Amino acid sequence: MQPEALFGMALGITPPWEVTEVNFSKESNRLDITIDFQRGATFPCPVCGALAPAHDTTEKTWRHLNFFQYEAYLHARVPRVNCPNAGCGVKQIQVPWARAGSGFTLLFEALVMTMARDMPVNVMARLFSVTDTRLWRVINAYVEMARAKEDYSDVKRIGIDETSIKKGHNYVTFFFDLDNRKLLFGTEGKDNETVIEFVTDLLKHGGDPKQITDAAIDMSKAFIKGVKEQLPNAVTTFDKFHLIKLMNEAMGTIRAEEARKFPEFLRKTRYLFLKNPEKLTPEEHARLDTMVANQCHKSVEAYTHKLNLQNVYFAENRQEAETLLKKWHKKASKSSIGLIQKMARSVKEHWDGILGYFDSKLTTGFLEGINSLIQAAKARARGYRNPRNMISIAYLIAGKLKFNKLYAQPA
Ligand SMILES: [Zn+2]
Repeated sequence: MQPEALFGMALGITPPWEVTEVNFSKESNRLDITIDFQRGATFPCPVCGALAPAHDTTEKTWRHLNFFQYEAYLHARVPRVNCPNAGCGVKQIQVPWARAGSGFTLLFEALVMTMARDMPVNVMARLFSVTDTRLWRVINAYVEMARAKEDYSDVKRIGIDETSIKKGHNYVTFFFDLDNRKLLFGTEGKDNETVIEFVTDLLKHGGDPKQITDAAIDMSKAFIKGVKEQLPNAVTTFDKFHLIKLMNEAMGTIRAEEARKFPEFLRKTRYLFLKNPEKLTPEEHARLDTMVANQCHKSVEAYTHKLNLQNVYFAENRQEAETLLKKWHKKASKSSIGLIQKMARSVKEHWDGILGYFDSKLTTGFLEGINSLIQAAKARARGYRNPRNMISIAYLIAGKLKFNKLYAQPA
């Protein structure tokens, strides 16, 4: 057996293809493997599958997995067949080791896809000495192929969440299947149009917008409008974590303002106010008492409203929750603090969606977890050059995509 034949076996090259030449170049750090087909070989027409001999050929090169420190390349002349069936015409055949139009072998691409979940693409690009643009093309193509096979016919309860690509601007909105805990769709922007795009994609994957019974969203006007218009049967649940986050932000602002007036009592108390009373140390309790005694009324009042609002979520059922929320609202709307009144108005405006939680029990809490994985990938990559790349990585991390059925080779 010639050593070339060993390479053929290692690469999984089968007749009519065979390895005809192997060249090591220590100087240029390359391993070049030439593959050719046997004389008189026939190939299936890519349109109809009928066997036909080569009509003409084109030289092509594919990057393969590194062979130790050597960059490996496959070379072959790829034939076009002149199909005997009228209507097919002259067509380039599909080689078994690479995807049509790709300059990488399937094995190389498989490695790229495996690494892309954990390694920034620019790092991978340096590792393989290829441009990141070429790697992104591979990643985007595979994600697209895998997504094309996704079936969304059983999607019923969704969560919507937005995130920024760069700090504070260029938003991407993600749509999640809350039952299967996976990313369904990601798109640029954070307006109500994103919901229209989601519905278009849902229909493409056999889903039905009328079948969506629940949508968990934050209290953004755009998502409220989008869900109302595009998902006619969806009951909206406002995310409890989002509501508490808004309340914490209001409380934080109130505390910071008052801290300018009473720095001696309120300095470095930001975290104290974010804790629940049972978690406070005796010293912190003492500090709270000092604040009360020294007219830091606004901060303490805001803290009380926050705790009472949190308490609503401990209700056993919707009825009990509504009683607690009414009580909270009555007090908050009578507050002398503008920001608390504003919170009260906001809660009133989103009343049903907030109480909707007690029927649906939906939160987007676990989305925060997925989001933090996406954010970590973003940080590793030092930001993404464009939203499409970020969305592709998000699909890889959270889309539960199946890559195993992409190449159902004909027997
Ligand atoms: Zn044909």
